Amino acid sequence: MARYSDEIIDDVRQSNDIVDVISQYVRLKRSGRNYFGLCPFHNEKSPSFSVSPEKQIFHCFGCGVGGNVFTFLTKIEGINFVEAVQLLAERANIQLPTLENNMDSAKEALKAKVYKVNEFTANYYHENLYKPESKIAQEYVKKRKLSNETLKSFQIGFSGKFDELYRELKKQGFEDREILESGLVNKNERGQFFDQYRNRLMFPICDVRGRVIAFGGRVLDDSKPKYINSPENVVYSKGRHLYGLNVAKKYDINKRLLIVEGYMDVISLHQRDIHNVVASLGTALTQQQGYLLRNNTEQIILSYDSDEAGQTAKIRAMEILQNMGCDIRVLQMEGAKDPDEYVIKYGNARFQNLVDKAISVIEFKVKILRQSLNLESTNDKIKFLNEIAKLISKIDNSMEREVYIEKIAKEYDVSKEAIYAEVNKLTYRESKDEKLLSKSKPVVRHIEKKETDNVSEATKRRENTVLAILLLGDRNIYEIIKQNITIQDFKYEIDKKIAEKLYEEFENGNSNISSIIDNLSEEEQNHITMIMAEDYGIDDVEKAIDDIIQSYEKDKLNERKIEILELLEENTIEENKKKELEKELNDIIIKLAKIR
Ligand SMILES: [Zn+2]
Repeated sequence: MARYSDEIIDDVRQSNDIVDVISQYVRLKRSGRNYFGLCPFHNEKSPSFSVSPEKQIFHCFGCGVGGNVFTFLTKIEGINFVEAVQLLAERANIQLPTLENNMDSAKEALKAKVYKVNEFTANYYHENLYKPESKIAQEYVKKRKLSNETLKSFQIGFSGKFDELYRELKKQGFEDREILESGLVNKNERGQFFDQYRNRLMFPICDVRGRVIAFGGRVLDDSKPKYINSPENVVYSKGRHLYGLNVAKKYDINKRLLIVEGYMDVISLHQRDIHNVVASLGTALTQQQGYLLRNNTEQIILSYDSDEAGQTAKIRAMEILQNMGCDIRVLQMEGAKDPDEYVIKYGNARFQNLVDKAISVIEFKVKILRQSLNLESTNDKIKFLNEIAKLISKIDNSMEREVYIEKIAKEYDVSKEAIYAEVNKLTYRESKDEKLLSKSKPVVRHIEKKETDNVSEATKRRENTVLAILLLGDRNIYEIIKQNITIQDFKYEIDKKIAEKLYEEFENGNSNISSIIDNLSEEEQNHITMIMAEDYGIDDVEKAIDDIIQSYEKDKLNERKIEILELLEENTIEENKKKELEKELNDIIIKLAKIR
């Protein structure tokens, strides 16, 4: 893989603060010297993902992943190192030199072309909408009462006939290969090119940065399928984007964000001044979309259609988002099948009111449960109470529990005491089970530790402290450490590997820690950032080094002591040699006493 020079990489790194970059993906809160947030790489409910502005690194204490700003981007965007450099260079307005021709840059070039094809097509379709021959589309947008402003902000357009787009793209100088890759044009067995979208209302799909990555097209008559979407290609992968997020981000979406099913819901709500809304592009919400939502807002309002498909989608989304620790509410809509229809029928104010009254996941589940039961029947009533108790016993906060019990009792006309009794029974049973379980706990946790079993925790801590001090990047301190601690003194394999690299870098006159990270393996990066992120309580570096060097010294003396004692045990030893060893042993014991 071709690489940029170290100077350029350094330049790009220094122009992109890691806190700024990560903040685009993760909501960070400052706590002391570091920032914390929910890790985007594993599911968690309390933040263990830390970012250090001083050291320009991130590390998750939950899943152990860590690295610098480039590492973060490669992981979160699923791109390689060179692409991460390019992305950050663009962000900081740094002009990169072109890399020599190879596979990567060929792919990059194709990507760049496909973005261009998409951008041109979005404009072309949009302008098409205003032409006299697009009457059917004009009538449709008029019927949907879409204003010119809305049509513009979402770049809504109309696709033409046969191969109109293809011919237009050729006129612009695009090559067949680039046009086909975009998925906007297909080729049949006879080698003829024809447009993928014909006579459809067109919705460009953009990424967060506003680049057109794909299209959705809706028919304007009864033909099927009603909607078609771009296939995946070099610039578009399904489930990684949210429709309308690029537009919504221009408004305040920090507190609350609505997620709906379709393009028209997003557009319709925007037009009626409800801007904090995005669509999941297809019914099933993905994990990645979940992260996008979580990273952009505090509360997510599930506003899917009220039909069966919408209901299923709602439950699926709930599972994903709950596992991520999101605050979710469910919109309860009556008198319309989707938000689009609702807001057209009843207007902005009433829709806002629905949003304010959106219910919690527990309330939603109780409601669904109630619909499947006949509370006149004793059996069903018992079942209802049981299930409610199960839901409520999962809430940790006792205040919150009470609020729900109160609410449910009132709404479904069951006695509060009955719910309490049921919940208490359940939690009692669970605590008993837990006790039983803890008595016969299987030995699973030891497996991961096995590899390093022969290295004590104290040794590991000491080695990590040495590395933490080296990572301060001070040359003078390195010289002292080097004289007293050799690579061979590191017992923990990964510490040894990292120490070796650090020593080498210092010998080469490089003490720029951030650049060292780029040359480490994934495992080494995770380990080194853990060391950097952990607070080793080093206030006085000189004193810390003294202590460590002494403890190494002590170890060496002790090792030698044992060696001598073993030698003295042997009968074959010469008298002279014996005296010598005894003298050495004596010295060692005196030295050891001094250290203690
Ligand atoms: Zn993590």
